[in-house]
Amino acid sequence: MKSDISVLIAGGGPAGIATALSLLNRGIPCMIVEPGVPALHKIGETIPPNAKPMLIRSGIDHLLADPAHLPCYGNSFIWGSNVATETHFFNQTDQQGWHINRTFLEQQLRQLALSRGVVWLEGQRVMQCKKEHNGWHVTLENQENSMSVSCDFLVDATGRSCRVARSLGLQRTRMDTLTGISAMVTTAEKIQPYHTFIEATAEGWWYAAPLSDKKLSLAFMTDADLMDKQMQETDHFLENAAKTTLIGNLLKNRIGDENSRTALHPASTSLLTKRFGNSWLAVGDAAYAFDPLSSYGIVSALEGGYYAGHAIADALSGEKDALLVYDGIISQAFHIYLKMHAQQYQQERRWENSAFWKRRGNGFGST
Ligand SMILES: Cc1cc2nc3c(=O)[nH]c(=O)nc-3n(C[C@H](O)[C@H](O)[C@H](O)COP(=O)(O)OP(=O)(O)OC[C@H]3O[C@@H](n4cnc5c(N)ncnc54)[C@H](O)[C@@H]3O)c2cc1C
Repeated sequence: MKSDISVLIAGGGPAGIATALSLLNRGIPCMIVEPGVPALHKIGETIPPNAKPMLIRSGIDHLLADPAHLPCYGNSFIWGSNVATETHFFNQTDQQGWHINRTFLEQQLRQLALSRGVVWLEGQRVMQCKKEHNGWHVTLENQENSMSVSCDFLVDATGRSCRVARSLGLQRTRMDTLTGISAMVTTAEKIQPYHTFIEATAEGWWYAAPLSDKKLSLAFMTDADLMDKQMQETDHFLENAAKTTLIGNLLKNRIGDENSRTALHPASTSLLTKRFGNSWLAVGDAAYAFDPLSSYGIVSALEGGYYAGHAIADALSGEKDALLVYDGIISQAFHIYLKMHAQQYQQERRWENSAFWKRRGNGFGST
């Protein structure tokens, strides 16, 4: 029996949409299933300059020229010493990164995918996935009802929840329990320079990213078991931010009245133990998720989607090793990330007795 759709992509975040765009470029019809549950605010704001070649290759670089996204010219940080330091992107080939309006970028990507012919099924959640003789039987649900769809190939782009892989009985390995608490803050004036601000403290680290419309995305990262529960109260969260040096100076006399409630975000480095199989693969955070310190999650999701689309097209035309090659590419990127992650955390030695830093002193697995 013929399937309803060639490729079903569970999840309409950056990874799912990039996979769809890549498939559509190869002439393969696909459908995205997205619950579309409105988030308090979507987190993930900084895209580094070295993403430019990938953005061009994927045909999405023009989206970042919209004034809803701000340029990012470097990093200001206190990390590894008490002295505030700045690095600028001037000496890099692609001299600027971006502070993106995340919700708007996803709308832009969605519009692009729709204009290229993706089928977008909003308000449904992928639940059960069953492999049948010549394809997949997928159960979708919303609050009122459930329905089923058949497809030849299934993509798990559901982010850290990796819903498809879990439905197949697969496990996720978490290498830490990093958690972020964030709020979208309004400021009385534009925050400049357009840098990403990062500051290590004894219990974790803060970051702030200026966004358009005088907004600032502010987050504190620590391990789940070390998180002070009171930080969930916006006032307490802002009071703690104000006590820091670099971020505190940034906020001084600048915070407006319209600040969002805080939201918690799982942010561990984690991976699926198996990222592809017979007629399915995982992409983006569903496959590998990164510590936000790397600013690599969105790039990885977009890049993974580009390669996933090509791998699926090749697999559907009988190329036996296509998915293995895809897995090789994303696994190599993850191993490079692990090395950089260890190097970045090892630079911070000021708090020898802090559980947060002790756990990261020698890469993953330290106590
Ligand atoms: C605190 C924090 C800060 C970050 N900062 C940055 C940063 O500055 N720069 C950066 O590059 N990255 C950052 N990241 C990481 C970045 O946000 C992620 O890597 C990126 O969102 C991954 O994209 P994705 O498409 O794989 O997953 P997601 O963006 O999580 O998208 C998954 C989609 O799947 C949908 N979905 C879930 N379940 C189902 C289901 N059952 N059926 C169908 N659909 C489903 C969801 O609704 C969602 O739309 C940060 C992450 C955190 C936690």
